[in-house]
Amino acid sequence: MTSFWHDLWCGTNSLAVTFPALYSHTTRPNACVARVLSDPALLLTLRPHLTNAATRELLELHALVSPALSTEESPDIRVLRHNGKVPTSKDHYILSFGSLMDDAFVQEIWHNHSPQNFKFFTWLLHRRRLSTNARLFYCNMRSDGNCPFCSESEDCFHLFLSCPRSKSFWSFLAMDLGSLLPANGMEQLWTVNPIQEHNQRIRATVLTCILWNIWKCRNAKVFRGEDEANGQIARRCFDDLLWSHRCNSPTDRDRIVEWSSFFIRE
Ligand SMILES: [Zn+2]
Repeated sequence: MTSFWHDLWCGTNSLAVTFPALYSHTTRPNACVARVLSDPALLLTLRPHLTNAATRELLELHALVSPALSTEESPDIRVLRHNGKVPTSKDHYILSFGSLMDDAFVQEIWHNHSPQNFKFFTWLLHRRRLSTNARLFYCNMRSDGNCPFCSESEDCFHLFLSCPRSKSFWSFLAMDLGSLLPANGMEQLWTVNPIQEHNQRIRATVLTCILWNIWKCRNAKVFRGEDEANGQIARRCFDDLLWSHRCNSPTDRDRIVEWSSFFIRE
């Protein structure tokens, strides 16, 4: 599918730019590389009676592309121009999105001690892609977007911060969310720091754990009709924080163990 004349496959300019006189003689300007190189004499499909400039360019072109003439035995290798290596998924991602600004919450979401699936959950939450009832309603997948615990619309902010159910759990943890405003989004949780933890990784780990377990409480209600008690949710937070064995840093590990005991205090 690579265009012989127009794609950048040989040298630093397209061949139409490098050999303009010769290009003006072709009757198949959209021929692909595979077709042209299928014949060692090059299937250029040129008009008869080349000009002197076109004849000169034809010789130069032959010299340039002869090394590229492939045989059945030639290995088919695709490499990056800048380093000669086979491109990985990461390279494709950087080529596609490298020009975009980094998300300000990357650190909070990805750089903590929670397991990968918990991080994906927080990422979906941050991107407003969690399947809350309000979102399912917006996508025409539900007849209403109501919260399973109250009559409000169940968007992310409501579910995790302003619903009486989640508020009750935050109060149970003695964490004050009074200063958070819906207009400022979920991300305030990381900037306002209601859990009063100043080590970024620990703070992000504990917040991820709390949010994950509020989500599980909500799912217990939606899918199994169960009303979980605050103590039950807190107990799960305690269990989940035993992720601490994942920390390489003994200081972080000790701090997370301290935090886990916070969830089973009397
Ligand atoms: Zn609610």
